[in-house]
Amino acid sequence: DNPIQRKPAWIRVKAPNHPVYHETRALMREAKLVTVCEEAACPNIGECWSQRHATMMIMGEICTRACAFCNVTTGQPAPLAADEPARVAEAVARLGLQHVVITSVDRDDLDDGGAAHFAAVIGAIRAAAPSTTIEILTPDFLRKPGALEVVVAARPDVFNHNLETVPRLYPSIRPGARYYQSLRLLDRVKQLDPSIFTKSGLMAGLGEDRGEVGQVMDDLRIADVDFLTIGQYLQPTVKHAAVDRFVTPDEFADLAAMARAKGFLMVSATPLTRSSYHADADFAALREA
Ligand code: SF4
Ligand code: SF4
Repeated sequence: DNPIQRKPAWIRVKAPNHPVYHETRALMREAKLVTVCEEAACPNIGECWSQRHATMMIMGEICTRACAFCNVTTGQPAPLAADEPARVAEAVARLGLQHVVITSVDRDDLDDGGAAHFAAVIGAIRAAAPSTTIEILTPDFLRKPGALEVVVAARPDVFNHNLETVPRLYPSIRPGARYYQSLRLLDRVKQLDPSIFTKSGLMAGLGEDRGEVGQVMDDLRIADVDFLTIGQYLQPTVKHAAVDRFVTPDEFADLAAMARAKGFLMVSATPLTRSSYHADADFAALREA
């Protein structure tokens, strides 16, 4: 018997077999790029890669943190690759992306947490693919004074930082992070440059209740955060935090309605929503509106 809980019907996804999926995969391999789609074993990979939508993970495959929900390996990371900004930019240009999502592991080992490298990646993409909009999903830069300012000065279109869960569950789910530090990071991005859209996300099914989720939404709106994503947490391996429960599609619809009522500009809350799911289409729709 599989020790990982059986998934309800609404979670099952199709195996990837579209030709464009294979093209995207080949291009990522050739450019030696790491994607969060693969690292996180994301259930949407067939759908996203068939539409050339991928989330690239920079600064290596080894993270200095050990979040209880995350499949990325924890350890001592390798030095930054100086050619990575150019490789990422070339892949973005070759994929012909309208919108790209760039994320990274946490680099507590670096003095600036990798902020200058993030800025270099943004700059390289701007030069190689000027019409591509850039969304970054960053670490919290905890105890890295000045790091956030460096990233904001590179002017991404969307600055995403996930709160992941409600504050009560931080010690077990996100040890090493601080709820208010993450919230303040989003608040400061908006204060530093109000033209940047801010975004955050939560996982559902870790043991949070509806009232706690509503409180997090209120905290995010006070910080003037524009976009919100909520998706079902899935346990990557038996060593990771167990799923407390599978939140039903109706409950997700209720959370989405609550978020819209609280004033978020863009909300995605479905079982398969991930922080980068449909980020390309959603952002294009928002710009046309
Ligand atoms: Fe990749 Fe995000 Fe799509 Fe998952 S939802 S496959 S992480 S782009
Ligand atoms: Fe995973 Fe990010 Fe936590 Fe590292 S900081 S373990 S990459 S969620």
